[in-house]
Amino acid sequence: MKCLGISLIFFVLMSFGSEHIYADQESQARMALYKKTAALTNIPWEYLAAVDQYERQVHDDPKEGRVTAIKPEPFFWTGSAGEMPVDFFPNGWGSDGNGDNKAEIENDEDVLWTIGQYIQSYGTTEDDIKIALFNYYKRDLTVQTIMNTAEVFKKFQTVSLTKRDFPVPTEANYSYRSTWGDARGFGGRRIHEGTDIFANYGVPVKSTTYGVIEMKGWNKFGGWRVGIRDIYNIYHYYAHLNGFADNIEVGDVVQPGDVIGSVGASGYGPPGTSGKFPPHLHYGMYQDNGKNEWAFDPYPFLKKWERMVH
Ligand SMILES: [Zn+2]
Repeated sequence: MKCLGISLIFFVLMSFGSEHIYADQESQARMALYKKTAALTNIPWEYLAAVDQYERQVHDDPKEGRVTAIKPEPFFWTGSAGEMPVDFFPNGWGSDGNGDNKAEIENDEDVLWTIGQYIQSYGTTEDDIKIALFNYYKRDLTVQTIMNTAEVFKKFQTVSLTKRDFPVPTEANYSYRSTWGDARGFGGRRIHEGTDIFANYGVPVKSTTYGVIEMKGWNKFGGWRVGIRDIYNIYHYYAHLNGFADNIEVGDVVQPGDVIGSVGASGYGPPGTSGKFPPHLHYGMYQDNGKNEWAFDPYPFLKKWERMVH
């Protein structure tokens, strides 16, 4: 009884205009749709969820009354370039997922069922799904992002992954300021695309997000560095590391707080060159919109994550 009382109070407190409740209900509604479609098509739910998650970042917010963001091309849906008929399309993929005898391009169930059937037509293994996605999007980075996101969803069994972390422990001695677009003190005339967090050699460097390690290795400028693609089509770049954490490899799923390496001063020379500048973490963020990828200022995000963990 006591337990019930406490959880009731908790629920009432949480219900006061909390965005979290809404976000949670929405992700539950999404999950229910993914799982229903997965059961009907044999495409594991995390791939359907990852396609939706990818398109969520590429388009504006889903329309009122919709919970998924997938927007098929009209030609894919109808198989013809002309005016869209109302119900069925002999030459297109659009089909009826909710049993109302209409195949509506703006209906969540119809769209998911259609995408699920399309992928299933290639088969249900990881490779089959990759080929289906490539033929649908015609873009390697898109396929890679979706496959990565599916791995993350599979590991954590949810689409509600909002936790973040600051890239160095907030107990450590460190400093950073907004330097977006400054000329570099080193590295020639390239504009500085990121934030430098100055700290001592060996201070742990942590993943700020959920994601997949996409790159690990040496680059003449960045030294030892790691790249992580998150579930928001954002690539996080950690450079000048002293070294990598022992257990990290390309393809690994990470979560906020996972140690990926330590602060160093590597770079500006052949592999192993170090000490040409004070030790710091160079942290960069790159957004992909489905067509291009560009750098944006991580500083406001770092400030936010720093507050979240304090
Ligand atoms: Zn930098």
